Amino acid sequence: MKIKSIRLGIIKIPLRRPFKTALRTVYNVEDVIVRIETDCGLVGYGEAPPTGVITGDTTGAIIGAINDHISKAIIGMDILDYEDVMKALNKSVVHNSSAKAAVDIAIHDIYAQSFNVPLFRLLGGSKKHIETDITISVNSPQEMVDDSISAINEGYTTLKIKVGKDSSKDIERIKAIRRAIGYDVNIRIDANQGWTPKEAIRTIRKMEDEGLCLELVEQPVLAHDLKGLKLVTDNVDVPILADESVFSPLDAMKIINMGAADLINIKLMKTGGIYNAIKIADMASLYNVECMIGCMLESKLSVTAAVHLAAARGIITKVDLDGPVLLKEDPIKGGASFNFSKITLDESIGLGFREVNNVDYF
Ligand code: MG
Repeated sequence: MKIKSIRLGIIKIPLRRPFKTALRTVYNVEDVIVRIETDCGLVGYGEAPPTGVITGDTTGAIIGAINDHISKAIIGMDILDYEDVMKALNKSVVHNSSAKAAVDIAIHDIYAQSFNVPLFRLLGGSKKHIETDITISVNSPQEMVDDSISAINEGYTTLKIKVGKDSSKDIERIKAIRRAIGYDVNIRIDANQGWTPKEAIRTIRKMEDEGLCLELVEQPVLAHDLKGLKLVTDNVDVPILADESVFSPLDAMKIINMGAADLINIKLMKTGGIYNAIKIADMASLYNVECMIGCMLESKLSVTAAVHLAAARGIITKVDLDGPVLLKEDPIKGGASFNFSKITLDESIGLGFREVNNVDYF
């Protein structure tokens, strides 16, 4: 089962509405698709979104990393030599976590197909249903209230609200939303590194005093500022979740050892795929540090891989995999099925893709 070829293409899918965070505004998903074929005819798919502001990975860099480094390291290797392939992939180039993730996902797709089981079964999973939150973009308070109410009407029970642009306005926004939706719905907020540590402590305490009942606060301060992150974690009651601060298993180990955050957000595009994501989940479970599984602006292709991982690791208790439902079209047949908040896996082997359309291969 040798890797015969690695083909690349671009998939372009319009978003239902522009996606706005403290860091950027995006209108389309335009991701690199990886198609790996083996000498016995098995095909696996992966995907890498160019999320320059978070991972540093641009379209050109993803293509270059795969063509110039990763392909050279792994073409001709036998996928059944799993550990060797994963080591070669991870050693082929430093950083470039999204490029590695796309290739890692395609390899896992084939690896599970070769055992004739769905990937989540191969990883030891039994859970076939998970429930995701939905992201509410940063807009005027009234627009955010309206978006929150329509999300609840669609059946979502957890809202992830983007904040971090202006802390006093953030408090007003969350107050307006909490007042409008009541207390039956979870609110988690994501500052995307938008606050200083002291500003974060002041803002989160104010939100606690106002009784806004936050489930968690995600990445309040700059990614590299682990001391600042710990200061926030130590000085507020709401659990703090590290996102941009954790890419690799070593980052996760550092955060856990320092007690810099209460929770860890695993995203395949930060870890470089499933192989490293499993290491983080398993390490976190030793310390009982619950994890969230998240995604970038990705289509169903790579998000399906994240669903399989979430289905296989109990320490992943929080799910933020709303990428596919933010898209206007779904050019992929098979994979996980997304019905608003409900995500379901079936027993299709590998990642279960039957058709991957709308891809312009080079
Ligand atoms: Mg985040």
